[in-house]
Amino acid sequence: MASSSCYNSPCAACKFLRRKCLPGCIFAPHFPPEEPHKFANVHKIFGASNVTKLLNEVLPHQREDAVNTLAYEAEARVRDPVYGCVSAITFLQRQVERLEKELDSAKADLMRYASNDMSQPLIGTHHHEGENIGSTLHNMAMSRRMGYDHHGGGSYFPWNDQNNSGGGGGNI
Ligand SMILES: [Zn+2]
Repeated sequence: MASSSCYNSPCAACKFLRRKCLPGCIFAPHFPPEEPHKFANVHKIFGASNVTKLLNEVLPHQREDAVNTLAYEAEARVRDPVYGCVSAITFLQRQVERLEKELDSAKADLMRYASNDMSQPLIGTHHHEGENIGSTLHNMAMSRRMGYDHHGGGSYFPWNDQNNSGGGGGNI
């Protein structure tokens, strides 16, 4: 990355530490001079010698990720000295929990709708409507049989009042 420009200008780390940036400087590939506060944050939070030690402990191909995560953690700690990146982790964990709950209730809704669709013609959640229709038909047949056909008007459907006051359909 910035290793080629290392000879011309010192890397951000060596510039910050006021030392000569030698060829093979472990910081040079990861702390280019054009990003001075990336190293400043990392040094402030972790200390240059700890970062050197850490970079030497990990494999060369892991150093880029190590530096980027150190820089992220350091910046978060500089911004929020109390919680650092833990505040971001907590926020995201709560978001995950909330979204999982939403997902669960959406799945439950879906299951309910799916089972309603399948059983709708017979029973379903609109149980009371089905019941009402059933009892209406039953009562109409009964009233016909009992010779109430001629009455008509409000008194012809007395069960409607019963059902409304009984709160049959209000539950769903
Ligand atoms: Zn350097």
